[in-house]
Amino acid sequence: MTTENNQKIRKLADWLTESQNTIAFTGAGMSTESGIPDFRSDKGLWTKTDPMEVATVEAMSRRYDLFHEFYSLRIKNVQHAEPHAGHKVLAEWENKGKLTAIATQNVDRYHHKSGSKNVYELHGALENIRCIDHGHSATTDEFLNQQTCARCGSLLRPGVVLFGEMLPQNTWTQALNLIQQSELLLIIGTSLKVHPVNQLPSMAKGRVVLINRENIEGTYHFDLTLSGSAGEILQATDQMIQGESE
Ligand code: NAD
Repeated sequence: MTTENNQKIRKLADWLTESQNTIAFTGAGMSTESGIPDFRSDKGLWTKTDPMEVATVEAMSRRYDLFHEFYSLRIKNVQHAEPHAGHKVLAEWENKGKLTAIATQNVDRYHHKSGSKNVYELHGALENIRCIDHGHSATTDEFLNQQTCARCGSLLRPGVVLFGEMLPQNTWTQALNLIQQSELLLIIGTSLKVHPVNQLPSMAKGRVVLINRENIEGTYHFDLTLSGSAGEILQATDQMIQGESE
């Protein structure tokens, strides 16, 4: 950790201690340290695959084979990896009353798996398999084995929001309200390139902190920017808070 980042971590630790209402807003960069690739980094999934060929409503109906292959790979990736220490720090902060909720773009369920309870999944979850025609639920194994819906015979899909689909309205409204009311918003591991969730940081009226490996393009205002890996920065911040309270 550089001296500059150390000072910033101290500031973040102070702000977290002061804040009565902190929200975390996470993206794919939150899970790269678990071994789950993000979309737009150098080694991201989009460097190998054109999103418009696999992650759209059109792709699902026209090229189900490619769609199925892409999402099977992602599901297996998530099944074979684990949440990391940074996910656990967020869960502990919620448990100790330091964090109110997490709004996430991630579809891997790692926040839940590491013990976070108040999680708003803006883009759904891979493991919520359902049939395309009627939304009947099915299992991940049924999807991976290319089975069709046991009730109606329709093809199966993961419960993620594809490009061209609406976000779950209730989840969106709740996340928006939480962010508007937050005293401190932690934005972690996202390029803020996906609409409409990239509107959320601008809705915050309190302090806004960015934890990301690279700079973010756009006209966002951050009160504090920490450059680096989410897991390392969250752990270092947690240690700072614990050190200060001893
Ligand atoms: P993105 O790929 O566009 O951007 C990720 C950002 O995180 C980049 O700016 C990158 O520099 C940064 N980053 C990467 N690793 C990091 C780390 N360890 N610490 C800090 N920063 C790091 O991802 P996004 O903005 O979340 O894009 C949105 C879409 O990606 C969402 O729709 C989401 O559903 C999807 N997605 C989710 C997962 C997942 O659930 N784990 C994985 C891939 C993509």
